[in-house]
Amino acid sequence: SAEKLDKSKTLFLRKKHVGPSCKIFFSQDPIKIVKAKGQYMYDENGQRYLDCINNVAHVGHCHPDVVQAGAEQMGTLNTNARFLHDNLVLYAQRLQATLPPALSVCYFVNSGNSRNLCPPLNRSSEANDLALRLARNFTGHDDIITLENAYHGHVSSLIDISPYKHHQLPDAELRPSVHVVSAAPGGVHVNQTVHSRIHPFVYTPTSELAMLTNSGGGGYLGTEIQNLFQSSAQAPSPDVYRGRYRADHPDPAAAYADDVRELIDRAHEKGRKIAAFIAESLQSCGGQVVPPAGYFQQVAAHVRRAGGVVIADEVQVGFGRVGSHFWAFQLQGADFVPDIVTMGKPIGNGHPMSCVVTTAEVAQAFASSGMEYFNTFGGNPVSCAIGLAVLDVIGKEDLQGNAVRVGRRLSDLLEALKRKHPLIGDVRGRGLFIGVELVKDRLTLTPATAEAQEVIYKLKEEKILLSADGPHRNVLKFKPPMCFTPEDAELVAAKLDPVLTELEEVLGLKPLDVPNVGKDRSKRTLSDEHQQHHDGIGAPHPASAPKRIRKETNSRITPAAD
Ligand code: PMP
Repeated sequence: SAEKLDKSKTLFLRKKHVGPSCKIFFSQDPIKIVKAKGQYMYDENGQRYLDCINNVAHVGHCHPDVVQAGAEQMGTLNTNARFLHDNLVLYAQRLQATLPPALSVCYFVNSGNSRNLCPPLNRSSEANDLALRLARNFTGHDDIITLENAYHGHVSSLIDISPYKHHQLPDAELRPSVHVVSAAPGGVHVNQTVHSRIHPFVYTPTSELAMLTNSGGGGYLGTEIQNLFQSSAQAPSPDVYRGRYRADHPDPAAAYADDVRELIDRAHEKGRKIAAFIAESLQSCGGQVVPPAGYFQQVAAHVRRAGGVVIADEVQVGFGRVGSHFWAFQLQGADFVPDIVTMGKPIGNGHPMSCVVTTAEVAQAFASSGMEYFNTFGGNPVSCAIGLAVLDVIGKEDLQGNAVRVGRRLSDLLEALKRKHPLIGDVRGRGLFIGVELVKDRLTLTPATAEAQEVIYKLKEEKILLSADGPHRNVLKFKPPMCFTPEDAELVAAKLDPVLTELEEVLGLKPLDVPNVGKDRSKRTLSDEHQQHHDGIGAPHPASAPKRIRKETNSRITPAAD
């Protein structure tokens, strides 16, 4: 067996020696995984779990071609990228061939920035951090516009632009959206947290900042603090289900893009300048959000007019996951090309590797700054051999085609469940990237957070691994290894069905047996809503006695598989 310690001993040592901020999955009954293959993971007793969430194991856990490529190269040479090596340039060339021609220059990175005790997923933050540096250097501007509920990584520069992380704090409303590094006189840098509310869409005025800083312990307020504090702002998430503009809006793409333009205008009023707009091509941790078509084109026009650049974070959604395209930003149309693209997770199928790709102009400006860029592990021959093998397998096994076919099957099954279950408010996604949003009421869209957690635990009992995410932690997140099969999809749907029925009984929700009632509020007119009230759809079932539902506590909430 691959088990070296008894499970209780593993748990004991982990509690003793591993930073507690890294929350364990299913903390009340953790799983010990000792091996994996394809879309399956196995615990210490040989019990098999179906993995619906691990987009890192993109071409399947422990794919033999990838393992062989890595092992062979490790037995031959591994060194840094200052020596000439074919793997580096061959990989760059292969990667480039998947992208629009303008995106032609690669920077290979990996974790490197932190000794994170939460392996193995700390690889892409470095890519986004470098992307911000490239953007600031190219534009000579400072400010970054990020999306509500965004997550871009764990290093300091990215936590500031990752509102998702701040929602996790217990008193999220009052906790900071920005951490400020204050330079005390004498040059000592003190990491200070300013307790404030930075509302999406609002630049906090410097006067308020001064007040907050003074009341928060009275610090010296240098320009450095002001700059950092003001240098990021959140635009509304382009979520047409629950967001500001929904599917019944005549032009949600333009409306959401106009919000970005308004943020830019406010920044300009304060004498600030935009370096970049950064967004995932489809938001993942933010709730599996699919932006309306044309959104990024319009945002890019506003941002570029202000002298900024556009960064597409493809860490979760790239490498063919969306099926119809290799990169998720391509879903918006051939007329949208970001200035910088960041990649991670699936790129090395579990091997720590990530990449930033940009235009020759941005790269040239970075080089002209005079500061050399070097990174010990980025682009080493082993990582590049592995990256090449991943690309080979995606092609050889037609995994992009599989994402189309199996994604469609899974979506159809989930749509069918939505027609039956009032708890499902929305099914959305592309290819093998799908979100199922659970709501207690389709009219008010009250998030079914505890119910989503219950689904996760119930499916675990059925040996299926799923996660719930989004700002309300009520979106079931599907992003399985790309070798997922139609049978896997059928199994998940079959197991999900009775779990939803049980939860609906507890809530007193009637099953929806009327055909085509799976309309949701976001697509409904007001008169439809009144009609639905008459139909009693989504309303509690008076006859059913509410059963006890597991209490929703912080410890109960399973960390999302990010
Ligand atoms: N970008 C996105 C969209 C992510 O989801 C993540 C990780 N969940 C990151 C960046 C950071 O990646 P890593 O943890 O590999 O540094």
